[in-house]
Amino acid sequence: MQKQVLVVEDSETNRVLLHDLLEKVCHCCVSVAANGKQGLEMAQAGLPDLILMDVGLPVMNGLEATRVLKADVRTGAIPIIALTGYVSNEDEQRMIEAGFDGILPKPFDVRKLLDKVCVYLTARSDLQL
Ligand SMILES: [Mg+2]
Repeated sequence: MQKQVLVVEDSETNRVLLHDLLEKVCHCCVSVAANGKQGLEMAQAGLPDLILMDVGLPVMNGLEATRVLKADVRTGAIPIIALTGYVSNEDEQRMIEAGFDGILPKPFDVRKLLDKVCVYLTARSDLQL
């Protein structure tokens, strides 16, 4: 079955880029949300296999949305990768505390991004065998 990936990004350029790239290269089904609250609701309703979450988001930021998802037994096991331009040690610590499983720095290194996404999607499919 096709893997479901949720991309939560307020930049339309990044949303379109990630949507097209992941669908074409990883052959997964990609949903997109433009703010943290919408992303949270879509994750709760759709239970995706992987979430790529921007940190700086309107309405509810990526740290808050991730905290809520990780605290909920239905969504807590979904891997969430942070997409962020902020990479100070303090920020990284805050992201780990919020429950992020990985961090992908912006601007994206497409190869690293695809590698990371594939690792998470493959690990999930192995579990389901
Ligand atoms: Mg942003």
